[in-house]
Amino acid sequence: MEVIIIGGGIIGLSSAFYLQQAGYAVTVIDRTDMQQGCSFGNAGYICPSHFVPLATPGIVRQGLKWMMDPKSPFYIKPSLNSSMIRWGWQFMKSATKSHVERSAVPLRDIALLSKHLYEEWNRVPGLDFSYDPKGMLELFNTEENAHHAEHTIKDALALGIEARMIDAQTLQQMEPDTPIKALGAIYFPGDAQLYPNQLMQSLMQYLRQQGVRFVGNQEVTSFITEGNKVQGIKTTTGFHTADHIVLAAGVWSRDLARQLQLNIPMVGGRGYSVTFEDAPYKVRHSVILSEARVAISPMNGNKIRFGGTMEITGLNAPPRMQRVEGILASVKRYFPAYDIPVPAPEKVWYGYRPCSADGLPHIGNLERYPNVTVATGHSMLGISLGAATGKLVSELVARMPASMDITPFKVERFS
Ligand SMILES: Cc1cc2nc3c(=O)[nH]c(=O)nc-3n(C[C@H](O)[C@H](O)[C@H](O)COP(=O)(O)OP(=O)(O)OC[C@H]3O[C@@H](n4cnc5c(N)ncnc54)[C@H](O)[C@@H]3O)c2cc1C
Repeated sequence: MEVIIIGGGIIGLSSAFYLQQAGYAVTVIDRTDMQQGCSFGNAGYICPSHFVPLATPGIVRQGLKWMMDPKSPFYIKPSLNSSMIRWGWQFMKSATKSHVERSAVPLRDIALLSKHLYEEWNRVPGLDFSYDPKGMLELFNTEENAHHAEHTIKDALALGIEARMIDAQTLQQMEPDTPIKALGAIYFPGDAQLYPNQLMQSLMQYLRQQGVRFVGNQEVTSFITEGNKVQGIKTTTGFHTADHIVLAAGVWSRDLARQLQLNIPMVGGRGYSVTFEDAPYKVRHSVILSEARVAISPMNGNKIRFGGTMEITGLNAPPRMQRVEGILASVKRYFPAYDIPVPAPEKVWYGYRPCSADGLPHIGNLERYPNVTVATGHSMLGISLGAATGKLVSELVARMPASMDITPFKVERFS
């Protein structure tokens, strides 16, 4: 049985991993050469600690305050674009306390499943992605966030996720390489770090060896349908037939889904990162700077990556270097000895997180076209939830019972 996967990001590749293992003939089609997308320059956190979706009452309040600041961590460009308006409306409707409470268990379950599967991948000969299960530190330096941290720890413990309050002195002992200016931190010992660029390269190489076919630089433009079956896809240079289609095209899934009469309100949440090799800036754990919403990732022994910002804007808007200046300036507020120069624009990476309207992914077979599986909308958690999503996709294609309850991820929930 032949399966075509549209999109060679982490969701497409991990789906290919499990589908190939289950005996399907798999082809991954991507419109690019699969070297630069959102699954490459991200922070690489595997984070069961992130059981709160993006859509929260707090982010709406904070987002409105930050709207006018070009260096702020969260920015929504006001727009009359209909996709943006639909997303914004659903996002506001989802940003409630009860939604946050309802989302915690499914987000925890898929993150824990994923972490377990990454640990299995780490033992697969030929797969190497610098997996480091050292845990994550979430630094805060305001009283308000110290208070918020206490609540987060309480919620985490209630979900069975280990979390500890760390005072400034202990934090400095855990990160002894440079002075730190923070009131304290939450330590999540169950989180892990990987090097996404290496993960993607390694997976691609491994999958090729296992017989997965890759078709690069071909954009899928439409679907060939007959009744309630999708027979294949058309691309910029031809067409391909298949028994089953997996739509895993990141934020671009939205427009492809629309052709199948499916409404997935989704926008690209642009984030930026800069990576240094053998730099004098050192951290031993993955670090999040709470107030600045910046991630610092030590990777692959000698690399460090600074990343952040959530910029909801058009998918073709030119990058804004002020955002990068904002990220690096905020690092100095917590790590006063680190004067990180703003690199030339060509050294700055940026990518578009596929941000669903409620912060939960869309994973499932289509009601209207049951031989299409959709897997997208992972927002800021695509790497963390990647391995589990691939596994769930393979179960959906095979019509086997799923490894977890995927009802909250229902694809048609906004249709
Ligand atoms: C700064 C930053 C930091 C982040 N940090 C983390 C983190 O620490 N942990 C975490 O879990 N997540 C993180 N993320 C989010 C994570 O990177 C994304 O959720 C994830 O990469 C999305 O993967 P994807 O496979 O869905 O989409 P993508 O990686 O965008 O892949 C989609 C693919 O589909 C292809 N495609 C699109 N349209 C078509 C078409 N018509 N035909 C053929 N191909 C098509 C694209 O070319 C692309 O290769 C971060 C993101 C950013 C920006």
